[in-house]
Amino acid sequence: MDAKERGGFALPDLKLYYEAAAFCWLKEWMLLENTDILDLEGFNNTFGWHAYLWYDKIKVHRAFKNHIVRKALYNVWIRYKDLLESKTPRWLSPLEATALKKLNMEAEWLKYREILEQDGDKLKLQSYEKLKPKVRDWLHYYQIMEVYKQDRKIGFQAEKSKLETELLEPNTKNLSRMYNLLLKWNTQDEIVKSAMIKWAQDIGHNIMFADWEWLWNTGIKFTACNALKENIMKMIYRWYMTPVKLAKIYHLPDNKCWKCKETEGTFYHLWWTCPKIKAFWEMIYNELKKVLKCTFPKKPEAFLLGIAGQLVLKKDRTFFMYATTAARILIAKYWKTEELPTLEEWQMKVIDYMTLAEMTGRIREQGKETAKEDWKKFKIYLKNYYKIEEC
Ligand SMILES: [Zn+2]
Repeated sequence: MDAKERGGFALPDLKLYYEAAAFCWLKEWMLLENTDILDLEGFNNTFGWHAYLWYDKIKVHRAFKNHIVRKALYNVWIRYKDLLESKTPRWLSPLEATALKKLNMEAEWLKYREILEQDGDKLKLQSYEKLKPKVRDWLHYYQIMEVYKQDRKIGFQAEKSKLETELLEPNTKNLSRMYNLLLKWNTQDEIVKSAMIKWAQDIGHNIMFADWEWLWNTGIKFTACNALKENIMKMIYRWYMTPVKLAKIYHLPDNKCWKCKETEGTFYHLWWTCPKIKAFWEMIYNELKKVLKCTFPKKPEAFLLGIAGQLVLKKDRTFFMYATTAARILIAKYWKTEELPTLEEWQMKVIDYMTLAEMTGRIREQGKETAKEDWKKFKIYLKNYYKIEEC
């Protein structure tokens, strides 16, 4: 649906328009560059702006919301905060947040994107040596370190967020960019939104709207088989029982993972981070590389949700969807046990789906040709596999 049609009669949705306008205003609080505006709007603030935006200082300093504009803007921000920034944002300044508020304060506050550095697959605070020219003294560094340790618990946004690319960076069209961004969120229902937030928190970056849209509109339709569709829906909505959920419901003392019995059995641990399940996915990943005869990054959204995006060629995506769904259905089969599916089980499952897919093709009268094309590589792979086995 076109953005302008939403509000009916070719008018934009007024509520969204108001919220988008609020974000254009909030932009100054996030960027901390225009000290004149900031001094004017925050003349009686006790803490830095980022303390209110990110660190919940509103609970300590309620008067912040006595200001009519601040209150309105703050409420809009809170409504979208988790959706727009599921991890500690790159634009956040732990220094500004912890500084006590004075007028005419320095305009250049160090942001997380300037003081963190890549350490393996994680982001960590740069050393004192590196930050020395930028901080006042070692005590100052120590203060930043303390905030950093807290923020590390929810993790850091590694790539640019939508908020950054649509609002903070561009100097033009902020209103319409924000309007379109909020519109996309508002067309999703609440359950979907909360599922999207949880997925973003787990995999450590936001899955783009376009990818979710693709999953709902095209991805789910890859098969006529309900068992396969059901698995994808269950994954999106995270409907699998976990040791953590069970322990909460029945007040059980043990909430450890059924497979490794060491770590808390959260949804994401059971599906992706558990060392045992990791080994299983590694095996599937290696087989997929053999089938597709190419290499690609091993991303959780591709294996758990079937969102392969640009990772695999367009003509391989249907097969990829079947292959990963087969793996997940097998994991679900051994859900509450210590066991894991074997390679042969996975191959058999995929062969089942191949037969099924050919039927799907017939039902939809797509002609046999498309189905044949989808499975060509897999058939070659099977031939090679069983030849090696016979030797
Ligand atoms: Zn485990």
